[in-house]
Amino acid sequence: MMAEKMRSGPAAGGAVTGGTITGHRGLQLEEPLIFEQDSPGATGVDLPQPAAVAERLGELKRQGPIGLPGLSEPQVVRHYTRISQKNYGIDSGFYPLGSCTMKHNPRINEKLARLPGLGDLHPLQPQSTTQGMFELMDTLVHWLKTITGMPAVAMSPAAGAHGELCGMMCIRAAHEATGDPRKKVLVPESAHGTNPATAAACGYAVESIPANDRGRVDLSAFKEKLADDVAGIMLTNPNTCGLFENDIIDIADAIHGIGGFFYCDGANLNAIMGKARPGDLGVDCMHINLHKTFSTPHGGGGPGAGPVVLSEALAPFAPLPYVIHGDAGFRLVEHEGQSGGQPFGRLKGFHGQVGMFIRALAYMMSHGADGLRQVSEDAVLNANYLLAQLKDTLSASFDGPCMHEALFDDHFLKDTGVTTLDFAKAMIDEGFHPMTMYFPLVVHGAMLMEPTETESKASLDEYINAVKGLAAQARSGAVDAFHAAPRFTPRRRLDETSAARHPVLRWRPPQEEVAAE
Ligand SMILES: *Cc1c(COP(=O)(O)O)cnc(C)c1O
Repeated sequence: MMAEKMRSGPAAGGAVTGGTITGHRGLQLEEPLIFEQDSPGATGVDLPQPAAVAERLGELKRQGPIGLPGLSEPQVVRHYTRISQKNYGIDSGFYPLGSCTMKHNPRINEKLARLPGLGDLHPLQPQSTTQGMFELMDTLVHWLKTITGMPAVAMSPAAGAHGELCGMMCIRAAHEATGDPRKKVLVPESAHGTNPATAAACGYAVESIPANDRGRVDLSAFKEKLADDVAGIMLTNPNTCGLFENDIIDIADAIHGIGGFFYCDGANLNAIMGKARPGDLGVDCMHINLHKTFSTPHGGGGPGAGPVVLSEALAPFAPLPYVIHGDAGFRLVEHEGQSGGQPFGRLKGFHGQVGMFIRALAYMMSHGADGLRQVSEDAVLNANYLLAQLKDTLSASFDGPCMHEALFDDHFLKDTGVTTLDFAKAMIDEGFHPMTMYFPLVVHGAMLMEPTETESKASLDEYINAVKGLAAQARSGAVDAFHAAPRFTPRRRLDETSAARHPVLRWRPPQEEVAAE
């Protein structure tokens, strides 16, 4: 065990043979699991011996120790600080993970989210004392509706995929209200992976629509699937090939023609904000990832917010609660539906991720309308710069300009023995978070790169230079070096399959582990 190695003096292959005595490498310390650092009885506080009391718990009394490790306060602080330093985030460097929009999070957002009048609120405070927060939410609602050209919005979904669930539950409620529940949802191949998952989670059969050779929905294949048991389509725009779906208006008209609804995955709104409004494109509902487009921090499972904008037809089914401006100020509506309708229920406790609302609104207001339009322009410009600089080195999957992200496939690695995975691992050694790989499935060995608007030309050039250098190495026969990557990380290649198939989610004391084997 690692802890044993740390505690029991020189590790095998210690200082003399090239490793280190401690197993540490410079100031990069080896980090045992917190359970492996257990010193039974150690605590962060010294509590006095409790006075003797009569036993009243009976059989509820704990039978044995609960298995939490004993650590002092400095041990805990060091453990979590060291783990945080092993993490790579947008604050440490370039993070071109396609579809994830890892843009810089302006510090003004953080400053405002920490104002005591906002940060210290409790959702159960009397509404008369939270008017400022309600006004803030109402203002954000106004701008989300304005940017998207949609009449209503549900604020409570906690992330993009949660927003999809919200939208599809509105669609299901709308069909059920007419006594025609319908069975199928159409999902193009170029849609995000969460789209078919959401449709299936809502109980629909998913029908896939192929992409054409331009990376867009194959319109005639789509039209062939239209039937009166189709509840709607879930389409991602811009799609996961980083391309605008040019036939979107025809698609909207056709789905409406059979009485279906148009769900648009709007997680990539950062490419079209200020340029095109989903409301003008015939969209019925769309989630917006505040944690992508509007720069609230994410990654590592951090908090998100996925408000869903809704058309007139779906607004009555929007979940509770929501904020309105009544005669006596702002009010949280907990029972009646929007537009006098029948809400499908609630999605989560309280009002949504208000911390994200504050940050998103701060981002909008500090940019202004012209600034938000420029965000989209710069995001698209940066992606096209990557595409133009790399298209002769890597293999660009589709002709023509892209939107916010550039898609390449592994054709350029043909006969080198190097795979997309190897290439991604080698990028880590060069100091970059890898791009999204093997997604979308539309092309072979996909490499999807999203630079975002907050990268400078200098940082893009540094990245382009590294990618070009790696491509040259791959073609010059350095396959073994690629298979050995990453070489400079705390851990080398992990067994990702076993980690996914046999996850160890609960720590067991070593003797139990032995007994189990
Ligand atoms: C990120 C993303 C999602 C999912 O959003 P989460 O907040 O991660 O749940 C859905 N669709 C697209 C296109 C995305 O990029």
